[in-house]
Amino acid sequence: MGTKISGLSIIGNSRGTQTGDGFRAFDPSTGESIDPAFYSATIDELEQAAQLADQARIVLGGTSGRERAALLRRIADNIEALGDDLIHRASLETALPNQRFEGERARTCGQLRMFADVLEEGSWVDARIDHAIPDRQPVPKPDVRSMLRPLGPVAVFCASNFPLAYSVAGGDTASALAAGCPVVVIGHTAHPGTAELVGSAVLKAVQDSGMPEGTFSLLFSSGYEIGQTLVRHPAIKAVGFTGSRKGGRALMDIAAARPEPIPIYTEMSSVNPTFILPNAVKERGDAIAAGLHASVTGGVGQFCTKPGLVFLPKDPAADEFVAKFNSLITETKPAPLLTGGIRSAYVSGNQKRASEVESTAANEDPDLPGFSVNPSAFETSAVEFLNTPDLNEEIFGPTTLLIRSDDHEELLAIARSLEGQLTASIHGTENDLREYADLISILETKAGRLIFNGFSTGVEVCPSIVHGGPYPATSDGRSTAVGTRAITRFARLVCYQNFPEQSLPAELKDGNPLDIWRMVDGKFCQLSEK
Ligand code: NAP
Repeated sequence: MGTKISGLSIIGNSRGTQTGDGFRAFDPSTGESIDPAFYSATIDELEQAAQLADQARIVLGGTSGRERAALLRRIADNIEALGDDLIHRASLETALPNQRFEGERARTCGQLRMFADVLEEGSWVDARIDHAIPDRQPVPKPDVRSMLRPLGPVAVFCASNFPLAYSVAGGDTASALAAGCPVVVIGHTAHPGTAELVGSAVLKAVQDSGMPEGTFSLLFSSGYEIGQTLVRHPAIKAVGFTGSRKGGRALMDIAAARPEPIPIYTEMSSVNPTFILPNAVKERGDAIAAGLHASVTGGVGQFCTKPGLVFLPKDPAADEFVAKFNSLITETKPAPLLTGGIRSAYVSGNQKRASEVESTAANEDPDLPGFSVNPSAFETSAVEFLNTPDLNEEIFGPTTLLIRSDDHEELLAIARSLEGQLTASIHGTENDLREYADLISILETKAGRLIFNGFSTGVEVCPSIVHGGPYPATSDGRSTAVGTRAITRFARLVCYQNFPEQSLPAELKDGNPLDIWRMVDGKFCQLSEK
């Protein structure tokens, strides 16, 4: 490897210190630790990072969209310049193939450049102008203008399952920097080397772009103290998190209990219900079974959008579907999960499920190396499902639960009983869709994204995507963590009343010098008076 990894946090422009024994990443395929050691940031270092972020806040918030776009483009270029060192380290720390990280790097850099495009275009700030009417009766109307401004420093927790696209320079960091917010990242213990490589690329871009020190820091942490203290820190004004419901909920409660509560965007657990309607299973059961298998086992089942509940009719076509799906699961080789903790949760989740419902497909080889597990499948009836709320719990990894029902009302009762989800999928014909229109209406209240004749894994990064959903899928069902709308999570509205033209932000000046779309006196327009 050409790029050296020091194991030290990044605190503004400096490096953290080497304190304690340190912790190491593990190779999930063997369970053996990987050099070098990483050292948790101290509370003093956290304090320094938070203060630097606080100091950077005004300068960064005052930069133009074009300046921040240049920063994001530099970050993307620097990540690409890490070349194979990054791909190999990410693969070593996760046991996922190089090819996966070539794709994930392209997505990560694509996201950064997508936000750069958004900033260069400029209309995201939702500028609105209502001109004064001094002679309005009975009272004069003031000049009122408003737009989105940055919230302030954001704490970002890296995701275990997306070491690039949802970690140090992933979607949360990209959208926070785009909004003009400094970022303090908590690296994930599963892939600290990947985090440091990307962190160095971000820091270089910050320095080369002339952005203030404190625009970015990366803290390593082997326990919860640093992350929790950061969320409590008065300089932090918002949080982005992707991980477990337990972890996300703990941080939500901390954010809410602060003397000054702050917004927190946690993406937590989703079982992504998948409804296979009668005509679809008759017409193309085999193809849907193969697609479902790929979706359940892709990335060793470690996607937040993995289909964890699959609803099927009770008929002979569905019997064939189940037999085909189970045989695909049984033929699938074991593979390592990302961490020992995720493996333990998968094993105990499977044991619990096997005590509740029928286990229909599983290899039970007990001597798997490292963090490896076998894929599995379970089956139950709709009545049993409705009577066993625990079956709604996410089991992270390559497993799913098939539920049989041929009663329309029962399916609606199930849909009503579901918790908030990132996605819900419906496989059907157009006739099925008409017949089950009431199901779709219920699912709209449950999920952030409804998918027709497709699978929930594979999230398109584009302006219209929604990767969010009601609790517990996320902490705030009005938001999306993917796509250009993610930027608004880290901004708030500020209104300027009766301000003189020269003191207004460029976005709100009369001449529209940035040529952005604005609402002027109640109508959207892009009028420029240049
Ligand atoms: P996690 O245990 O929630 O950890 C995520 C991050 O938050 C890690 O940095 C972790 O620190 C930290 N953390 C966890 N609990 C905390 C607490 N109480 N206070 C402060 N910090 C805390 O999630 P994970 O390790 O990534 O994966 C475990 C489970 O999360 C999976 O089994 C799955 O259920 C779920 N998951 C869901 C998604 C999704 O997108 N919905 C994605 C990934 C994982 P450490 O690194 O020190 O543990």
